[in-house]
Amino acid sequence: MARMKVKPGITTGNQVQEIFSYCKETQCALPAVNVIGSSTINAAMYAAKQANSPIIIQFSNGGALFNAGKYLDNTNERGAVAGAVAGAHHIRILSELYGVPVILHTDHCARKLLPWVDGMLEAGETYYKETGKPLYSSHMLDLSEEELEDNINTCAQYLERMAKIDMTLEIELGVTGGEEDGVDNTGVDSSKLYTQPEDVLKAYDVLKPLGKFTVAAAFGNTHGVYKPGNVKLRPEILKNSQEMVRTERGINEEKPLDLVFHGGSGSELSKITEAIGYGVIKMNIDTDTQWAYTRPIREYMDKNHDYLMSQIGNPEGEDKPNKKKIDPRAWMVEGEKGFAERLVEAFKNLNSFDQFDLG
Ligand SMILES: [Zn+2]
Repeated sequence: MARMKVKPGITTGNQVQEIFSYCKETQCALPAVNVIGSSTINAAMYAAKQANSPIIIQFSNGGALFNAGKYLDNTNERGAVAGAVAGAHHIRILSELYGVPVILHTDHCARKLLPWVDGMLEAGETYYKETGKPLYSSHMLDLSEEELEDNINTCAQYLERMAKIDMTLEIELGVTGGEEDGVDNTGVDSSKLYTQPEDVLKAYDVLKPLGKFTVAAAFGNTHGVYKPGNVKLRPEILKNSQEMVRTERGINEEKPLDLVFHGGSGSELSKITEAIGYGVIKMNIDTDTQWAYTRPIREYMDKNHDYLMSQIGNPEGEDKPNKKKIDPRAWMVEGEKGFAERLVEAFKNLNSFDQFDLG
């Protein structure tokens, strides 16, 4: 199969679905990496360049606020909206120079955080009026802890609004276990950690006529990395969901759903590969890249310990300056390198390394 051509810059509208369809045909998925500011954003784009692939870059609510500054007033999510909008402009300008296509996304949004998505959509609608394109490719709503009806109905309202500006919606059915961005699902009843294919069919029936959407289905996947054996992944839930939608609605396409794998960090490669075979086109990665950023910085600090005790004076002489070692760029770049390397590994694990033609 010929490699799919994708232009650098933020990818929106139909092209997002075309990329996902191509992923399903070639049995690959894109990493969706959480970023918190220019350092991780630039490292993510650098990794995509090396992988010769589009990448999904996403802000969590906390990540968006952090991009604006953790101490900025966040009344009514204004800080998190501003951080997300500023991040979008940063990525829009630089992704073209890096020469990589970016699917720009925001992560989990529970009902209490809807003012965040509302604010981003207002900014996106204004931007669309000016340029004919949205600021973001997609947003996620996560109402998975609510009754199914409430979850799907609210998603339907948002999808109607987002479809008008060529955006895609990610929904969550069933709960991702573990803990992330201050949301703790470690105590959730285990039956909720596995999505029922019937629920996926219900969501499909309501959302399909309204616009483009992806489904984060729970198959035992968990945020964070835990001791092996704690997590029982059952990717066949994804397969059963595809089959149910296909057979119940008489669809020819083998994998009608675009599925999302949350909590990819620490997952066994065989389970990742199996999930991709069932139509997973996006795998979220956060904990593994957080570790990949922090670990080399710790090593830098350990190695340069005696140069970081004061501004002047080190083992080479008590009047020697330490400016070069103290400069945050010196150690942040180590974090960026580690982050990018781990992401390149993710592209390889997801079989998307060098699967595209970026021109
Ligand atoms: Zn997640």
